[in-house]
Amino acid sequence: MVQKLSILIIEDEKSICDFIAKTLNGQEYKTTAAHNGRDGLAILTSTLPDLVLLDLGLPDMDGIDIIKQTRQWSSLPIIVISARVQEKEKVAALDAGADDYITKPFGTDELLARIRTAIRHSNKIMSDNVNNNRPYSAKGLVVDFEKRRVLVDGNEVHLTRVEYKIVSMLAQNSGKVITYSSLINQVWGPYADDNNRILRVNMANIRRKIEKNPGEPEYIFTELGIGYRLIEDENLL
Ligand code: CA
Repeated sequence: MVQKLSILIIEDEKSICDFIAKTLNGQEYKTTAAHNGRDGLAILTSTLPDLVLLDLGLPDMDGIDIIKQTRQWSSLPIIVISARVQEKEKVAALDAGADDYITKPFGTDELLARIRTAIRHSNKIMSDNVNNNRPYSAKGLVVDFEKRRVLVDGNEVHLTRVEYKIVSMLAQNSGKVITYSSLINQVWGPYADDNNRILRVNMANIRRKIEKNPGEPEYIFTELGIGYRLIEDENLL
């Protein structure tokens, strides 16, 4: 029998916790739950789950502190559960090392998609030496990391070096949100001005080159106030 992946839910709202547990237990997962941060950390360190779903607003501690503490010793995937208005908290959580977030209220499909993506990326990091050069491909968009080429429906798209760096970083993390600051950091280096304007200008140019209708992107989605998410690699679905 295949061993089920274990997911720890740290969430004080019982109705949400029950909904998530019920959804996941009906799939290929087994779950444990904690209703406060202290219990959550204790279960996390003693059971080492495959993934953690973490509410940021816990009664006894800030979810971001749980991320920071966990990141000192583990890279296990953490998905933050947050309210719609908490843009700053979401960015802080991602910058502290969370893999992704999901906004309340969310549906079953969205929850399962986020979990699959996060688990796949954590597996990918482990097997990266084996297949890190396989091209990204989704809906006619191809990023060939070896040849440093980008194609849309078979036609080569001419990107500047900076534009290519942005697209390839999103492609290597496809399906996951990448914050503005981590993109700026990766592309322009740690001393770059933490100003989104140059990123937005480059993104507008990228969209003009790869999207059929830049106003309604099919490939690169904006997560307002947070970052960008490239549609998931079809080879991974
Ligand atoms: Ca809460």
